[in-house]
Amino acid sequence: MVCLIFFIFGLVFGSFFQVVALRLPEGKSIINPPSHCEKCNKKLKWYELIPVISYLIQLGKCRNCKTHISIKYPIYELLTGILFSLCYIVFGLSVNVIIPITFVSILIIVIISDIEYMIISDEVLICGSILILIETLILNGVFSFLLAIFYGVLCFCFMYLIKWIGDFIFKTESLGGGDIKLFFFFGLVFHIKTAIVIIFLASFIALPYAIITMIRKKDNIVPFGPFLSITAIILLLLKFTSVSLLDLINYLV
Ligand SMILES: [Zn+2]
Repeated sequence: MVCLIFFIFGLVFGSFFQVVALRLPEGKSIINPPSHCEKCNKKLKWYELIPVISYLIQLGKCRNCKTHISIKYPIYELLTGILFSLCYIVFGLSVNVIIPITFVSILIIVIISDIEYMIISDEVLICGSILILIETLILNGVFSFLLAIFYGVLCFCFMYLIKWIGDFIFKTESLGGGDIKLFFFFGLVFHIKTAIVIIFLASFIALPYAIITMIRKKDNIVPFGPFLSITAIILLLLKFTSVSLLDLINYLV
């Protein structure tokens, strides 16, 4: 029952996260205008805004102009619902679930806007970092709070160094600024050694996708943020927040 409540909350929040992720990079307000059809601009009624269900009832079409609505909207909502439920299953109904829910929420916005626009909004990372830091201070005390900032800065610097080396080797921008700032956010929750694991695993997962993109589109620009974010979410849900690469290899072998 509680799991279902988390799931429904996830669906509703997922719907909101999409609005944030799709409007912020375009410099639009999150509140105004209210949700509308992209094609005919008709304002959506409350019953057209029920996550997933409205999509199914309307058979994926706008009620007014019958324009096809992308399947990705209900998918992002479902993804958020599933991740919220998993947070509950892993961390239980306690204060321990607050930081994971915040972390996952911010990363869903990051994933959507990086896929759609190849942009990771500073506003989202700043708001997310402030939220996580306040929660850490209240829930875990001053020491954890300072440690989170320390690892955040350390992860940021480490990623910056990798970008610097990458740019030098490939003679082009190897990593986006958003990816580097994302690591400050990761550092608030993860140990630096786990941040390294995230880079390795995300590169490993992204590689086949990058190769396919290169062959099909003849360019090699792949948003790395979603891969980093998904890897971070998986490690968080496995409670691997301070696992090293060596630990992981030992664990798997
Ligand atoms: Zn329409």
